[in-house]
Amino acid sequence: MPVTYKQMKVNTVLGNVGILPTRLWTRHCFDPYANCEFNCVYCDSGFHTPQGCKEKPNTVFVKYNAPEVLAHELSYVKTRGVLSLGVATDIYQPAEEKFQITRQLLEVLRDYKCPFALGTKSALILRDLDIISEAAKNSWCCASLSIATLDEKVAKLLEPNASPPQKRLEAVKKLSDAGVMVGVWAAPLLPYITDTNENIERVVEAAVENGAKFVLGVSTDSRNPVRFKAFMDQHFPQFVSKYERLYSGVERSGGLQTYYPDESYLYDLYKRFILICEKYGVQHYIPHFHTRRQAWLFFMRNFGQFKGSPHFELTQLLNYLSPSKEMLQTVRIRCGRGAVTENFLKVLGYFPH
Ligand code: SF4
Repeated sequence: MPVTYKQMKVNTVLGNVGILPTRLWTRHCFDPYANCEFNCVYCDSGFHTPQGCKEKPNTVFVKYNAPEVLAHELSYVKTRGVLSLGVATDIYQPAEEKFQITRQLLEVLRDYKCPFALGTKSALILRDLDIISEAAKNSWCCASLSIATLDEKVAKLLEPNASPPQKRLEAVKKLSDAGVMVGVWAAPLLPYITDTNENIERVVEAAVENGAKFVLGVSTDSRNPVRFKAFMDQHFPQFVSKYERLYSGVERSGGLQTYYPDESYLYDLYKRFILICEKYGVQHYIPHFHTRRQAWLFFMRNFGQFKGSPHFELTQLLNYLSPSKEMLQTVRIRCGRGAVTENFLKVLGYFPH
């Protein structure tokens, strides 16, 4: 079915706190588009028709006035926290080729020297390499390519419209070569499909070879269980009963149901993930938990077990403390890159993502 684009007016760009406060050290988050043409099978940001909305299915909403709103906001805010672009939908989905809202937002961020973080599954990010590399020199920015697997067939099944994994890796390399801090989100680590040691090793090794400075490991929470179950029934029927046992935990929020994996599974997955990252010499590795409680329990139980300890644990735990969120990021932005600042951050094993 062809995609329909619909203009959508926004009143604010900054001011939305991250929807994933345990993942990113960012103050604000914004998605230039609502709904996502990549339509990955495990995602709930594919095509939705909001309740009561008369739009056709397969509609992508384009936040056409966002660059103008952002420029206005940045002209009067004093503290410029990191703006994360691409949290709930992809900022380089096909709509971006036509409307260029992301590119216009990046131009504003560069002009105001406002720090930002980007995440995408698309090699289209390279179109904006000029702006991103300039921002990396004059302010602070970070780009992440999401790569769950290098198996082209599996990737095509899971993420039918996104760039092939090899193209995403090439984007990592080009961003790294241009001096941008770039990393890979090993996401989602789907039980029995992309969470095997073999798959994680291939992704992590390729990430390091192509210049990634960090790898984020993300297990899946399921917000679109009906669609995902139909997918599993068709392509991986042998795992369906295992998934039903693993994803028995449900949380309801705002009328939505989210299914979380069993915690013991999660802890085992992240131990494997960390050991693989250490094996391949990843500079910074970040297991993403669904709750702060999970993060604390994991690190308390495993304190000192990993090579990077204690710095690794310290910075990770800080990441899960609300009062300290952004503290170190703020130190870097406010105090610049002087020797004292750098040494202070080094002692803490600081990593700004
Ligand atoms: S690219 Fe991201 S936001 Fe878009 S459908 Fe896939 S997982 Fe969802």
